[in-house]
Amino acid sequence: MFRDVNPKPTKNVFSVDLEDWYQGLEIDMDDWGKYASRIETGLKVLLDLLDAAGVRATFFVLGWQAERSPHLVPDLVARGHEIASHGWSHRFVYQQGPKQFREELRRSLQLLEAQSGQKVLGYRAPFFSITKDALWALDILVEEGVAYDSSVFPTVNYRYGIPNASRAPGFLTTPSGARLFEVPLSTVRVPGMNLPLGGGGYFRMYPYALTRALSRRILEHEDRGLVFYVHPWEFDTEQPRITLPRWLPQWTHYHRLESTVGNTRQLLADFRFVPMREAFAQQLAEAAKR
Ligand SMILES: [Zn+2]
Repeated sequence: MFRDVNPKPTKNVFSVDLEDWYQGLEIDMDDWGKYASRIETGLKVLLDLLDAAGVRATFFVLGWQAERSPHLVPDLVARGHEIASHGWSHRFVYQQGPKQFREELRRSLQLLEAQSGQKVLGYRAPFFSITKDALWALDILVEEGVAYDSSVFPTVNYRYGIPNASRAPGFLTTPSGARLFEVPLSTVRVPGMNLPLGGGGYFRMYPYALTRALSRRILEHEDRGLVFYVHPWEFDTEQPRITLPRWLPQWTHYHRLESTVGNTRQLLADFRFVPMREAFAQQLAEAAKR
């Protein structure tokens, strides 16, 4: 169902999944009231880095957080960033089912458009959880007026991934036959697998020199831009350390948080980035005409 479409001219996109530290830990929304909000702490560090580099990004905003911190979205818009949806509850899409997914999506789009005063074009699933078990979600995105999705990670991960999906941004065909523009997270082809390069835990795990070398390989040899992502809590080294039932989510969340600020400053110096709606403006405009 996925096919490559050459996205010339090459443009890198910097994206942020806007959520608080405990929301990314597989803790259910019903329990979020127990934890102290620290969204401002990491976000301030990140926004200062972006401002210093003159970079505007795409922010996939969690609806639950936007409702509780209503100043966040207007502030991001004033700084020139793009607002997109990260759903409402941060529950895995393949666990939500179609009814909850549609309700969450609709509620988040309404809130984010009211707060931003702009049409929201993009969506990214919590934990990139549009997998082969949740392809029905792509049809709901089209039906609810979303212009592009950035939920597919063409790799293998214990929480997400469609390993054989196209690695290039382009139009995909949904299960019911509709077209949707997909912006997959960056990967590098190595023998036997797609190595994730997109950001998050991989950005903290790899030495920065490796991230830079792999990024240049995509730009030079594949003629496509980088699709990069971070979370505000990755810029907050003082966040609470809690023990989770599963060790792997805990490890990926807390591993080398101290590396994020320096690595991001270097990345923003080495590569130019634009928001998604600008990088793919031509393709999205052509799709809107049909
Ligand atoms: Zn998230």
